Amino acid sequence: MIANQQCRPFDSRYLPFASSANQSKTYKAYGNCGSIINATARKLCKEPSAVSQIVRSIQKKGDLHFSAMEYDEEVDQIVMRPLRVWIYDIETAPSEAYVWQFYNQNIGHNMIKAYGHVISYAGKWLGEEDIDYQAVTQKEMNRKDDKRIVKQIIDKFSEADVVIGHNGKAFDCKTVTGRALIHSIKPPTPFKIVDTLLAAKRYFKLPRNSLECIASELGCTGKLKHKNFPGFDLWRECIAGNPDAWEEMKTYNIQDVVTLEEVYLRMRPWISDHPNMGILQESNIPICPKCASPELRKPRRKHFITTNTQKYHLYTCTNCGGYARSRTTVLEKEKRKKLVVHAV
Ligand SMILES: [Zn+2]
Repeated sequence: MIANQQCRPFDSRYLPFASSANQSKTYKAYGNCGSIINATARKLCKEPSAVSQIVRSIQKKGDLHFSAMEYDEEVDQIVMRPLRVWIYDIETAPSEAYVWQFYNQNIGHNMIKAYGHVISYAGKWLGEEDIDYQAVTQKEMNRKDDKRIVKQIIDKFSEADVVIGHNGKAFDCKTVTGRALIHSIKPPTPFKIVDTLLAAKRYFKLPRNSLECIASELGCTGKLKHKNFPGFDLWRECIAGNPDAWEEMKTYNIQDVVTLEEVYLRMRPWISDHPNMGILQESNIPICPKCASPELRKPRRKHFITTNTQKYHLYTCTNCGGYARSRTTVLEKEKRKKLVVHAV
């Protein structure tokens, strides 16, 4: 049951569910008109009711494929929800320590004045425009208290099916879970991680693997430099409570997420260990394991992919450009019996 019978905002993933050229044109126009039914109707010289009927029918069909059933407390009903992919980046405060010397120092636990903690995060849902930015208050900063903000990130993890981060596995995710453990916050519901740093190392040889360098090489929107507070000045001034520094931290944090999304989308068709969206999304039709699009086609030249002992259907996704294969073999039983393989 779909609780909300209103037309939801345009979502390009629903386009393939238009069943005619007219439906497709209407749904695209709905997107171009800011998801406003009356504006779309005026543009297409149609009745608003006809437009809303088409939009609703496309969204209903899309929901049937893209959905997982879940309980929505707000409307007190079981509703359909699309797959959620969260792209995020956290910023942390440095540890503070007492030191005798400045070079080649080993800093013991009893020389630490305060360990680092999370100070802000920016995150967005893939396919949506809004970017959520949250930071600790100055009071929380002075107390080194990141419990509130860590809980917010844990809640986002719980909401997400897949979480995207650059160095997300080794740094962002573990920093957040470490802080959650310290604050006795319960673990999030399970989610999958895509780490663009690990993907960069595994699938490509790029000049450097920092997000800034990858974005520059790929021609993506670049990471921002700290203009007014270069380097460590930005952190020092934020700790001191300088509102201009916090404003720059916000801009920098948000821009990182915009850059990360672009980098992720460029890498996505290459990431063969990407979490399988076909399993995460309760769809009864074949969908792309990387981007969840139902637009799978047979490649023009190669129709099969083989291992030394098996043969599978090969598909390409017209949305992301990635490749996928059938799970079951297409080899006949007789052929399998007669197949000879290397002995040494
Ligand atoms: Zn795809």
